[in-house]
Amino acid sequence: MYSLRDLEGHAKIRTNLVNAVRHNRVSHAYLFFGPPGVGKKTAGLAFARALLCPSGDGDACGDCDDCVRSGRGAHPDLHVVRPDGASIKIKQLRGVRDGTTLTSFGEGRQVFLVEQAEKMTVEAANCILKTLEEPPGGVVFILVTDDPAGMPPTVLSRCQCLRFNVLTMDEVLRIITRTSGAGDRAGLAAALAGGSPGRALALLEGTGDRDRVVELALGLTGQRRPGVPAPPEEPANREEAQVFVRHITVLFRDVMVRQQTGAEDLLINIDRREDITALAGAYDRREVLDILITAEETDRRLAGNVNQRLALDSLLLKIAGKSSMKGGMADVLPGSGSTV
Ligand SMILES: [Zn+2]
Repeated sequence: MYSLRDLEGHAKIRTNLVNAVRHNRVSHAYLFFGPPGVGKKTAGLAFARALLCPSGDGDACGDCDDCVRSGRGAHPDLHVVRPDGASIKIKQLRGVRDGTTLTSFGEGRQVFLVEQAEKMTVEAANCILKTLEEPPGGVVFILVTDDPAGMPPTVLSRCQCLRFNVLTMDEVLRIITRTSGAGDRAGLAAALAGGSPGRALALLEGTGDRDRVVELALGLTGQRRPGVPAPPEEPANREEAQVFVRHITVLFRDVMVRQQTGAEDLLINIDRREDITALAGAYDRREVLDILITAEETDRRLAGNVNQRLALDSLLLKIAGKSSMKGGMADVLPGSGSTV
């Protein structure tokens, strides 16, 4: 585990790092930045292991003493620093500050992997900065952050900055299948994750959310409630609200597939095929398209600084108000054949 060759996606970054190690052109400081959950920390660990492996081929060989130790998280020259409470404090970098860590192992490399680096206190950041002004031979900092704007510009200017982008759905699917063995639900999670395996894995921990969205859509469709409908549970934060909206997107994407092709094997929510058939009978194609466009717009707006409640309400109103169903759910029970 944790070698650069095993890194899914991020091919350019991988090549860049392997070449740096192989040709001994390693910078003293790297910033790995990009959206949450796309593999920055995993890449940081893989890079650290490659730096500490004496094999010379640019990646961790996996077999030598150094690789075995770093693989166990017990290499004396690999220092993983993460926030202690709300911040990363200077005392966590003591080895850097007083130079003991930097000299005790002679000429070898010393790698500091700093997670959530934007949480460094000013003192901690200054400590790293001072080290970078006259870096001791083998020291390498790998700073990892979702929020480069929260980093002091003085530190950024001394780093080689590598942007990690979101992955493709196939890459996400491969990662979560490997990590979680999720089977059928992996496809759904990958579709909802917006290119982030971390988010996909979080989604897999609860299909409860998806089921609530399906019930909600059926409820809105069947009952045509007056006024603004409320989601069953108010999403606690922007991230949860986006997951909620993505479940709606995938659900109505399935409804559209059902309406246009009738093919069940193309459904992502295959286990709810009967409900999808019911919904496909309740809306016409233009209405479904309209809901999908609104859902995408809502997802985008939630990523910005928007009133979450208002954004969700207008999407739910679209789902409730656009229903063309005249009677109750009994009219569109599965098998009625009215949809294809
Ligand atoms: Zn090795």
